Amino acid sequence: MNSFAFLLWLLFCTVLSSSSLPYEDLLNSAREPEFLDWMRIIRRRIHQHPEIGFEEYKTSELIRSELETLGIEYSWPVAKTGVVASIVGSGGGPRFALRADMDALGLQIIFHFSVGLHEQFEFPVIDLIVSLLFVLSQELADLSYKSKVDGKMHACGHDAHVTMLLGAAKLLQGLKSSLKGTIKLVFQPGEEGYAGAYHVLEEGALDDVHAIFCIHVDHTLPTGSVSSSPGTILGSADTFEVIIKGKGGHAAALHRTADPLLAACSTILSLQQLISRETDPLESRIISVGFMDGGETHDVLPESVTFGGTFRSMTTEGIDSLRQRIQEVVVSQAAVHRCTAIVKFMDRAYVSTTNDDNLYNIARTVAAGLLGEANVHPFPRLMGAEDFSFYSQRMPAALFTIGIRNESLGSIHTTHSPYFMVDEEVLPIGAAFHAGVALAYLERR
Ligand SMILES: [Zn+2]
Ligand SMILES: [Zn+2]
Repeated sequence: MNSFAFLLWLLFCTVLSSSSLPYEDLLNSAREPEFLDWMRIIRRRIHQHPEIGFEEYKTSELIRSELETLGIEYSWPVAKTGVVASIVGSGGGPRFALRADMDALGLQIIFHFSVGLHEQFEFPVIDLIVSLLFVLSQELADLSYKSKVDGKMHACGHDAHVTMLLGAAKLLQGLKSSLKGTIKLVFQPGEEGYAGAYHVLEEGALDDVHAIFCIHVDHTLPTGSVSSSPGTILGSADTFEVIIKGKGGHAAALHRTADPLLAACSTILSLQQLISRETDPLESRIISVGFMDGGETHDVLPESVTFGGTFRSMTTEGIDSLRQRIQEVVVSQAAVHRCTAIVKFMDRAYVSTTNDDNLYNIARTVAAGLLGEANVHPFPRLMGAEDFSFYSQRMPAALFTIGIRNESLGSIHTTHSPYFMVDEEVLPIGAAFHAGVALAYLERR
């Protein structure tokens, strides 16, 4: 045991005997300059080399290397690139998991917009538009350690999540001999639409775990505060993509065509009625069409049209019902216009995220002990979705958001924005919060 670990252990044992856990001491330890510098370096390395879902090879390698330095055993690969580490205390006890997602985002939305501009111009303008496209597909935050990978960025803060969990690993490893159970550290791939959590569970990596906790950064909350609520906090989400096939032809001889554009427009309007006429007004559901693509010119009808979007509900039953009705409405409306339709949904739709009351209360108490009661806020329920939901379906789970907003620094932009920025003061707070919740859970079981 090194001197840092010994001091932490001594402190832990002393405070345990006075029946309250050393939350502030965890935070003070994580704020030590050497500890904070170590976390900053890790986070910036991951930030500069973003990798999207199931391609987190270098991120995974960095995590394994840090775990080895800390003397923590791990299983790998889990769900292709994931790592599940274990800190085993003495005398059996419960098994509690802390989870961090590892993947970055592609900046494709801006990329598609640029292509659309490009296609409207004549050839001489193409060079200008291509260079504009190049700039827009980059991270736009004003940082010295920007993403070095064109079109990819840690714009959802998962680099900070990994770092905070490694910070917790260091704190908890220092307390290993006094732990009353086992803590599993889940470094999970593919949160951004790839349902990585589902695949981690399918591989049985968490079959023996009793409960799980995670943190997500939140640009709406000031650094030094957290937020959550008991019960369902995030919705279930699925996507759909439709191809309507008709019969193209001259726009002045419509009777010889089967117009897929008109069929698509009519279908999109009908889909809205699934919310306004078939959903209980006291229940929340959404259908959003986000893109439509069909036709090239003024006087020729295309053979087919594609469109697609997302649909959401606060319940798994709601999303299942919408999926069935979208299929029926699209196929039927296409038939009205003498067209045919194919509808494709996500391979693995995200279910709702529900916080377990008991675990929520444990985490809330830890947060209040760490940051003060005034800095623990209720979470406004959102239609945003998280694959942490798959864990919450399987075992008691709790998700808290953690503030990164700092006006003077400029960390005020939403996740998934190319301007997104993290206030790194969150790193020790997140590390201590993770570690504190794990300790409190093992104490109270
Ligand atoms: Zn995200
Ligand atoms: Zn995220």
